[in-house]
Amino acid sequence: MSNPQWQHSYQALGSRYTGPANPDPASSPEWMGWNEALAEQLKWPHNLRKTDDALAAFTGQSTLEGTRPSASVYAGHQFGQYNPQLGDGRAILLGEWSASPSELYDIQLKGAGQTPYSRGGDGKSPVGPVVREYLVSEAMHHLGVPTTRALAAIATGDRVFRSDVEPGAVMVRVAKSHLRFGSIQYFAMTREGDGLEELVDYAAERHFAEVLSAKSAESTAAKAEVLLEETVKRIASLVAHWQSLGFVHGVMNTDNMLLSGETIDYGPCAFVDTFKADAMFSAIDSQGRYRLSNQPGIAHWNTSVLASCLLKVLNPSEDRAVAYAQSVIDEFPRWYSDAFKTRIAAKLGLDSFRPEDTELHDGFLKTLEEDQLDLSLAYRWLTHQALEDSGHTPIGDLFIPSDALLDWRSAWERRRASNKADSQATAASMSQANPVVIPRNHHVAAAIADAEVQDYEFLKAAFGRWKAPFEWQDSDRLWAASPTPTERVTRTFCGT
Ligand code: AMP
Ligand code: MG
Repeated sequence: MSNPQWQHSYQALGSRYTGPANPDPASSPEWMGWNEALAEQLKWPHNLRKTDDALAAFTGQSTLEGTRPSASVYAGHQFGQYNPQLGDGRAILLGEWSASPSELYDIQLKGAGQTPYSRGGDGKSPVGPVVREYLVSEAMHHLGVPTTRALAAIATGDRVFRSDVEPGAVMVRVAKSHLRFGSIQYFAMTREGDGLEELVDYAAERHFAEVLSAKSAESTAAKAEVLLEETVKRIASLVAHWQSLGFVHGVMNTDNMLLSGETIDYGPCAFVDTFKADAMFSAIDSQGRYRLSNQPGIAHWNTSVLASCLLKVLNPSEDRAVAYAQSVIDEFPRWYSDAFKTRIAAKLGLDSFRPEDTELHDGFLKTLEEDQLDLSLAYRWLTHQALEDSGHTPIGDLFIPSDALLDWRSAWERRRASNKADSQATAASMSQANPVVIPRNHHVAAAIADAEVQDYEFLKAAFGRWKAPFEWQDSDRLWAASPTPTERVTRTFCGT
């Protein structure tokens, strides 16, 4: 009897979109992390919560009733170059889990072995990238950033061969879907439109059903309009959120951009500690294409690729299709900038973002960069200046403002004095906009190093701490502090 909560709507589109793929059995799996809060939210069956049955089912040792493992094909621009066929090379979709009639989630195993799209790769993942994604994606969720999530991280007990021999692992990823810009690109470009209409209908219905019904969008052309506009809006708002937190994604290829607007692919990502506008960490990004300051422009470029792939279905008249697509893409800078300004106003305790506030905020970032100050702690220090309660936290030990920042503070205080809103209210909202803790790179690296020798205590502690990023906790002299020069991690690797 099949479980009524599993669905396979994407597979039902046919063999152009997915191929069967079976997870390799792990030899001696053990739990590295289990996300009970997410299990609860998914209404995940109790007999599959951190049990031996779940461990076997997530590592290919048994088949979970109701699942139909598959891998999906997609393409994508990687560092600006079109690759006509990528696909899930190390990810296997078990199926779509319906937590409620309106909530459908892809449940995917990452690192469980080869698929029809592995292109010579082993389909495996070392422990390091699994721990990074498990920790950082959940931390992002708790920071309020739309993201794929992590239900579990499991060490397989098998070896994975990279430049060294490494312990292997599998992550159980949960996403609103794994449909990427690159999925649209594969059908529009590689297959020259074959299968594109069906995919557009599917993606629009899966992610934007409410907008479709509000606009009575029934034709594929009308659905393509909604898909384009809503996706571009979500990506603009997503990247504004990243920028406000100093999150460097590191590999913004079009196959790593989801139509749902969730963050995906926690390969070489990192948060900045001391602020640098051009911060970059990824060892494979030698040109700095995906550095912090480039992310909005790259997102804009990626959305224009998506738009060009939808032209065929937007309107039978090419001129009209181009005019419509252009009009949406031209809105990206405004959508991005509105979202960014809203975030910055909240972070600086301003009742609204006025034109002159750009200069104020730029001056803040310039001071941090010149004086090598920590971005997250600087915002949090401002929060306590506004709340006048820094005495109740260790902020005074963790962050020493420079003379230039103290000067800047005077300009900021004058600006706040002209707020029309109640200053208690804006100060309170600063506490919800400026995290005390972010998943700092050196802590992620420490959790990985321990996990590689089967010690999961620090991973567990980090996972627990990053669940409440906007509150001070007793242990925050450790978690909130900027790394010392010797602790600082300046290079990250995607670990494929
Ligand atoms: P990424 O850089 O992680 O976005 O991966 C780019 C592409 O390479 C995707 O199609 C992945 O599925 C594929 N890939 C990455 N690592 C592996 C691997 N170990 N085996 C097979 N395919 C992989
Ligand atoms: Mg990827």
